[in-house]
Amino acid sequence: MSDTLKLYNSLKREKEEFKPITEGFIGMYVCGPTVYNDVHLGNCRTFMSFDMIYRYLLHQGYKIRYVRNITDVGHLLDDGEDRILKGARLEQLEPMEVVQKYTNGFHDMMDVFNTLRPSIEPRATQHIIEQIEMVESIMKNGFAYEKNGSVYFDTLKFAKDTNKYGELSGRVIEDLMSESRDDLKNQSEKNHPSDFAIWIKAAPEHIMKWSSPWSVGFPGWHLECSAMSTKYLGETFDIHGGGNDLKFPHHENEIAQNVGSCGCSPANYWLHTNMLLMNGKKMSKSDGNTISPEQLFTGDSPHVTKGYSPMAIKFFMLMAHYRSTIDLTDDALQAGEKGYKKLMEAGRSIDQLAASAEGEGSIDVQISNLRQLAYDDMNDDFNTPKALSRLFEMVSIINGLKGGQLSLNDLSTSGLEMLKNTYHDFVHNIMGLKDDMVSNDQSEYMNGLMNLIIDIRKNARETKDWGTSDKIRDVLKELEIQLKDGKDGTDWTIN
Ligand code: AMP
Ligand code: ZN
Repeated sequence: MSDTLKLYNSLKREKEEFKPITEGFIGMYVCGPTVYNDVHLGNCRTFMSFDMIYRYLLHQGYKIRYVRNITDVGHLLDDGEDRILKGARLEQLEPMEVVQKYTNGFHDMMDVFNTLRPSIEPRATQHIIEQIEMVESIMKNGFAYEKNGSVYFDTLKFAKDTNKYGELSGRVIEDLMSESRDDLKNQSEKNHPSDFAIWIKAAPEHIMKWSSPWSVGFPGWHLECSAMSTKYLGETFDIHGGGNDLKFPHHENEIAQNVGSCGCSPANYWLHTNMLLMNGKKMSKSDGNTISPEQLFTGDSPHVTKGYSPMAIKFFMLMAHYRSTIDLTDDALQAGEKGYKKLMEAGRSIDQLAASAEGEGSIDVQISNLRQLAYDDMNDDFNTPKALSRLFEMVSIINGLKGGQLSLNDLSTSGLEMLKNTYHDFVHNIMGLKDDMVSNDQSEYMNGLMNLIIDIRKNARETKDWGTSDKIRDVLKELEIQLKDGKDGTDWTIN
């Protein structure tokens, strides 16, 4: 087994061996959501990808400080309006009410998708002092200038002095004439069009604003991540993540701000997830090419023929590598759902298997090879589709043992333990999947109850009590529970 974790570092544009700054510890920062409306499935994809990465690193024994922020100020729309203020205006709410409402919604959705909470979830508005201090140090180092109460990052000077502007995104400063649009209203104040605002003077009617040495105003969007990652993870930490649409300008500008204030690059490894598409096009609210998680759960959308459970959706997403796009189509979801059910069914069957022989059998060797390969896949830049394919080979073994095509004599007790542990480690701990139909605490009860029902049905059939056996069959059918009679007894599955 290759124990070395390799990950694709966007900064270097290649896979690199992962070496944490401090052995055994990892500092990881992921850009969180801007909480001005409901979280959409594309956001969910990115956060589920980082959840899988976080889970795998935890599984490998690292102690991790995982920081994921909440953007609640400064992320402006193209017309210059703050997204949170727009939400407040439209919904007639206090800006902080908007923030709380959609933060709660985001947390609920992340729970539905069974993702782990970060260690720290800092909000931009709670770190205004740190952001002002960072502006001051960038100015002190000569990389920012003030104009009419706003402060701009001097990209030309930064590029000239450090040769670092564009390092992440590959953009060339000369091509950036009209790219930085986060402060569109004040475009004319800038020395160069690619400069970006790090402090913005607020118009009198603007609600969210703070005193600063330059004006009553608010921080530029990119600044919060620089200030908060530095505060909680230090000037340089291990991993910085986000969706690849954030590479430019957000992450490029984060690097510029960090280097501009302390002289060092924030993160050693930059990880970027790819976009969720729908029917071949980027999922986007503006052209109607979107579906909310809730619509996907209930099936209440013209884009799907039926509803899909959160775990089936999560499994579907894990079937793609985090750096590949995913095209959400009804057909692909159906295929994903089938795979998910097969995987869960195998999980239920695994507990019913009992090895009868001691010592190494041929199946033991197969299991230990597959386990090695699954780890190799995850160590190769978190290749979940390949790791899942190994798990499906294990599913075939489980089903073969259950159905009698494989002999339990070829499996030792320790081989069976390894099969159970590998399944549990990968499916539950690393992929963060759970049985949608039956929650983990309920599964034991469910197994017990089903065994009882199967017994009663068996007795009823033996005594030709057709009334009871038919009733059991009909009620189970209504509950979409299917019984399968085999030579070793009766199994059950949930459709
Ligand atoms: P936002 O709330 O817009 O700041 O985005 C939160 C996170 O979701 C960022 O990391 C984005 O890159 C990511 N994201 C936005 N749209 C998509 C999409 N269609 N597919 C995958 N990730 C996305
Ligand atoms: Zn960020």
